[in-house]
Amino acid sequence: MELLFMKPYCKEVLWGGTKLAEKFGYETEGDHTGEAWVVAANKNGVSTVTEGEYAGKTLTELWNEHRELFNNMQGEEFPLLVKLIDARDDLSIQVHPDDAYAKVNENCKGKTECWYIVDCDEGADIVTGHKAQTKEELKKLVEEKRWSELLNIRPIKKGDFFFISSGTVHAIRKGTLILEIQQNSDITYRLYDYDRLQNGKPRELHTAKSLDVITCPQELKDTREAEKIYRGQKSQVLVDCPLFTVTKHMVSGADEVVIDNPYDFLIVNVLEGTGSVDGRKIKPGDSFIAPYGYRKLAFSGTLTFMTSHV
Ligand code: ZN
Repeated sequence: MELLFMKPYCKEVLWGGTKLAEKFGYETEGDHTGEAWVVAANKNGVSTVTEGEYAGKTLTELWNEHRELFNNMQGEEFPLLVKLIDARDDLSIQVHPDDAYAKVNENCKGKTECWYIVDCDEGADIVTGHKAQTKEELKKLVEEKRWSELLNIRPIKKGDFFFISSGTVHAIRKGTLILEIQQNSDITYRLYDYDRLQNGKPRELHTAKSLDVITCPQELKDTREAEKIYRGQKSQVLVDCPLFTVTKHMVSGADEVVIDNPYDFLIVNVLEGTGSVDGRKIKPGDSFIAPYGYRKLAFSGTLTFMTSHV
């Protein structure tokens, strides 16, 4: 049994930058790389196995042809999508539908996501949630473009974590490098795009659908659990919800740290430090999947990494 190391699909977008290439060494096609889809089996982008028995196979192919790697889970698609995002400019203010709304209106899955701030500029901020108490108030503030009254803008710092359930208005803003773990869906409703032009035209807005799906009033929860310290490892569950569980691990010291994988699969995203897993060197930007039955992962070195599973 082997770990499935992945090469990302990198996406050029107007608001992207150069940090994904500089910091993680990804092969990119230009200098506006906004997203590296590091673990992806989506019709709009796939990650590819880099070594071992399945080298060259995409995650979609593994899901379709080798479902035993995922404990023969049910489902048409691999359930999660993990991205690293470099926002050199502001992303539009947006919202995602839940599964029920997306199924009826878009024939796809909805999208709940979460963000870990890998790095950010001094003074960076993000948008999560809004201040309207009723749908009527929300509609009025949107129609009158009273964005600063409506939106909840929060300062951020490295290491912050945000759970963005479907129906939550949000935007990543400039100077932010984020690890995003989400449902495997690419459905977005754009509420406001700062009146920017792309090729001389504003991008399409989806105001009616956005108003349909935005939760009102919007309560934001801090899903983080207490930090645990155990045998050379600090770990913290960042979110444990019905769609996914994400845990941050910080390893340091002389002893190996063993992480158990009793799940259908376990995704690992290395964010900082140097070290190894089961004797293989790993570095920031490396992403891999421990398949079903790969029960123990032994880490050594000084590392910060994230694990996620369903
Ligand atoms: Zn989003």
